[in-house]
Formats: sequence, structure tokens, C-alpha cells
Amino acid sequence: MINETRLRDLLLELCSIDSESREEREVAQHLKSVMESLGAQVEIDGAGEAVGGNTGNVICRIPANSPDAPPIFLAAHMDTVVPGKGVRPVIQGNIIRSNGKTVLGGDDKSGCAIIAEVCRVMVEQNLPHGGIEAVFTICEEVGLLGAKFLDVSKFKSKYGLVLDSDDIGFLFTQAPASDKMKWTIYGLEAHAAMAPEQGMSAIKIASEAIAKMKLGRVNHQTVANVGSIHGGGPDNIVPNRVVVTAEARSLTVEGLDAQTRHMDECFREAAANYKVTINGVEKTARVESEIHREYDTMNVSADSTIVKLVLEAANNLHHKVETLSMMGGCDANVLNRKGLESANLGTGMRAIHTVNEWLDLNDLNKSASVVLEIVRLNGLVKA
Ligand SMILES: [Zn+2]
Repeated sequence: MINETRLRDLLLELCSIDSESREEREVAQHLKSVMESLGAQVEIDGAGEAVGGNTGNVICRIPANSPDAPPIFLAAHMDTVVPGKGVRPVIQGNIIRSNGKTVLGGDDKSGCAIIAEVCRVMVEQNLPHGGIEAVFTICEEVGLLGAKFLDVSKFKSKYGLVLDSDDIGFLFTQAPASDKMKWTIYGLEAHAAMAPEQGMSAIKIASEAIAKMKLGRVNHQTVANVGSIHGGGPDNIVPNRVVVTAEARSLTVEGLDAQTRHMDECFREAAANYKVTINGVEKTARVESEIHREYDTMNVSADSTIVKLVLEAANNLHHKVETLSMMGGCDANVLNRKGLESANLGTGMRAIHTVNEWLDLNDLNKSASVVLEIVRLNGLVKA
């Protein structure tokens, strides 16, 4: 029932419109006209102004044609990672790939295309449905910003689907919470040859802290990584300042709190070992921390409406879908926190966030068929 040619063409159109984060306007306008052409009411919210982007989230409403059926939402993000300028999709049989110079942007244009196609089929064939709320968000790749600024008070749906992961056999129902961290370590400047004992090396302090830190896969629920170190200067000066950035993620908030505390303590303990006395005045090294929670955990139960709907729909199509936890955050993390029960279904996007990104149209079609079946089944629910 999915029109595969139409779906592929829309995907190619969307991929060919550049939309790095904060620059999604052209794709937003295109999706707006596609959704209006199939009869949706479309609104673009003010999230763009709030995050310094050139468009807001695109929110589309298709009114119910079956008064008893409950509303459902479908969401995907419009922005892509870099390098995402000048995307030229290459078609090789059923495979669509980037030309190797940019990402393809199937993350998440595949989700956007599936949503538009499913809405079109529902309307075209006049299948019974409750209200359908289709949401195309901005700035997912730079901290889930569009979802964070989405005003869900206007939403009628209580549950729905985010289409933003790769393998079409997986429904992600669990995802971690994440902290972003930044430490500025202050030592003391001194001539490295004339008076090294009057200095405190910020680089050495940072190194000692990081050497003691549990990083990588800390346990089966928690991962952590130091991403950057900046600081220092000429080799003949003891460096007085270093900035270190890091992130940690955990499937439990307790696990994340413990890991973040541990990392912070490593810096504090390392700095506490450094003191020098100059002209009778004691100087100590110190650390300033900036820690913020990037997003909270997502944890959708196996007997939630959305999970049951997805599994039933997949089963009807003899397609195997299993629920799983992922170590990445997505808009579903934010939407769940806002009270919209949501799980994340795969679309067929592959090798995402690389210039080798590709997608198999067979997977895309299958995923679209499952989503159509989900919305169709939901439309049959009687109050
Ligand atoms: Zn994505």
C-alpha cells in the first residue's frame, strides 16, 4: 500500500536539500508544502528563534476521520550533521548513498519521507484514523534542541513513534541520560627553566586526573569519554590553564550521577596535590567545573500502548522487530520526559554520521509499511 516510487523520490528530494543544524528552512518549507498538499494543517513554531536557527519545528495535523480512534504522533528530525553541504545522492540499484564528500542525510530524511508517505496513504485511501500529528524537528543533532523547545501542550496525542535509528528490526525503548562536562584547570605560570618550582602545570594536573579516570565502557550501563584538551603555550612557560571537555552516558540516572561525580573528583583530587609558596604566600591549583544534563533517560515499558502497537503491526506483516536499548539520545528522550510516550523505530539508514552513509530502499519500504500498519491499527481502536 506504500507507493515505493513516491517514497524514494521524496527521500531523494529531501536529501538533495542541504539542512545542517540551524539551517533547516528549505527542507522545512518543502515538507510544509508536501504535507499541505495531502491535506494537513501545518504550523511552524518559534523554536528556530529560540536556538538561533532559520526555521522552527514543522507541526502538521491531520484531523481524525474516525471519532473513536485515539490520536498518534510521528516524529523525525530535519537537520543533518556535517559535512552536509552540497549533498548529491547516488543511486545504485536499491542502494542510495552519498557521493563520499558529504553525509547522505538519510539520518533523518528517511524518517521524514516515511512519515509524509504514510500520512499520504492514510488520507488518499481514506483509512479510518484518529488525529495524526506529524512533527519534523530542528537541531536534533546539536542537543535535541527542537524537541526541547516543542510546545507539547497543544498536542492531542499521548503516544507515538520517533523514526530515527538504523536497523529496521529494532525498536528502541531505552536510552541513556547524558551529561556534558567542561573543566578549566588553573595552575600557575612560571619560567620553565629559571623557576620551574614556582609554577604549577595545568597540563600535568589534567593528565593526572584523566589517567585516574574510569573511561570508555565503564560498566554495562555506563560509558564516558574525554573529547578534548585545550591549553598551554610556549615550551619555556609552565602552563597555567587547560580546558578539558567530556561526556558521560548511562541507562540509569544514578549511574550517570556516580560517573559524573567520579570524573569531577578526579580533577579536584589532582588539583589538591598542587601548592607552591611564593614570597610567603601559598598558592593552590584549582578547578572550575561546568556540568549540565544534556538529556534524561528514556524508558518505555514493554506493555505501553506504542510498543504493543509496533509489535502487533510488525507481526501482521511477518516482520521481526525486537525492543532494545540504545546508547545514543534522540528526540524520543525529550518527548518521553514531556509526557509523550515514544519509542524509536529504525528506517534503514546506515553508516550514519559518516561520508559513507547509505540506505537500502528495501529497508525503507519495509519500515514505511510497518509505520503505515501502526497508524492503520491505531485507527481501528474503539473508545
Ligand atoms: Zn538522527
